Amino acid sequence: MISLQKIKDILNDSRSESLEELAQEAARITRQYFGRAIVLYAPVYLSNFCSSHCTYCGFHSHNKIQRIKLTPEQYRKEMQVIYKQGIRNLLMLTGESYQHTPMEYLKEAARIASEYFQGISLEVHPMRIQEYKELFFAGVDGITIYQETYDRTRYAQVHLSGHKKDYDFRRKTSVRAAEGGMRQISLGILLGLSNIAEDLLELYTHLREMEKNYPGVEYSVSFPRLRTIKTQEFAHCDVDDIALTKIIALTRVLFPRVGINLSTRETPELRDHLLEIAVTRMSAGSNTSVGGYALLSEQEQDPQFDIKDERSVAEIIALLKSKDFDPVFTDWRRIENTA
Ligand code: SF4
Repeated sequence: MISLQKIKDILNDSRSESLEELAQEAARITRQYFGRAIVLYAPVYLSNFCSSHCTYCGFHSHNKIQRIKLTPEQYRKEMQVIYKQGIRNLLMLTGESYQHTPMEYLKEAARIASEYFQGISLEVHPMRIQEYKELFFAGVDGITIYQETYDRTRYAQVHLSGHKKDYDFRRKTSVRAAEGGMRQISLGILLGLSNIAEDLLELYTHLREMEKNYPGVEYSVSFPRLRTIKTQEFAHCDVDDIALTKIIALTRVLFPRVGINLSTRETPELRDHLLEIAVTRMSAGSNTSVGGYALLSEQEQDPQFDIKDERSVAEIIALLKSKDFDPVFTDWRRIENTA
């Protein structure tokens, strides 16, 4: 495993030739293991009710935003819009509220999503093994769970109340999801929240543990950057484009087979650039508000984060093809499992 000092040296190295070398090595490995295939997905927000208070997030329980939880008829409409754009991998998100988005609600959403999508992932509150098993049989095959920061002190400072305060329960979510049969697990850190080198090392340790103990699972990582929100109550460090590029390239070099996701919170220019280096999964045509695809006007929406890449799915497909990438919509198909 890489040392903390080595990660710091890479992040602090300002020589452009070092970055170029790292990026080229990452690109070579990416092409070796993933070819020129880029998997496309889109998020759908089902609810923004949240019982946790994370100081960096606009959905936190103390924030006075309009709270919405979609009915099955409403999220079906949202899903239909996404489906019509050509997307077949769906990421369903909620705030973290066991009360407002309980298992039955999520299972119903999974069943309806299965009518349209081949790949269905969830980014919701952490659960127990039995619940993951039930979700798997309802149609969910992937889980996204970010630790945000692995620094326990910082974690306690920014997670003030609610279930998310429980660091250890969250840290072990990936194990429970794997035990529950999930096929894909996505991990991540929120860059800017804490010391980046230390968080990266812990994320790498977490990934190695999972690869060793659950080798049959397909892993991916994400590196969202902290953005200022109106209610933000603390200082954070900015992570510039060069630092993000180094983090993504280094991750590729250390983890050749791990998927790297990049959301529309990054600019089109940076997304296009990172595609050439290491990114293998991209969201496209995204909306990050509950009801944002089909139900609410732009003025009525309260997005979880602002979108920087507003290109449509069709534009992303055209871009990928122009760069000789293969946009991939379906790389897996569920078969009926009655066991
Ligand atoms: S990060 Fe998640 S748990 Fe925290 S406030 Fe936002 S939606 Fe809720």
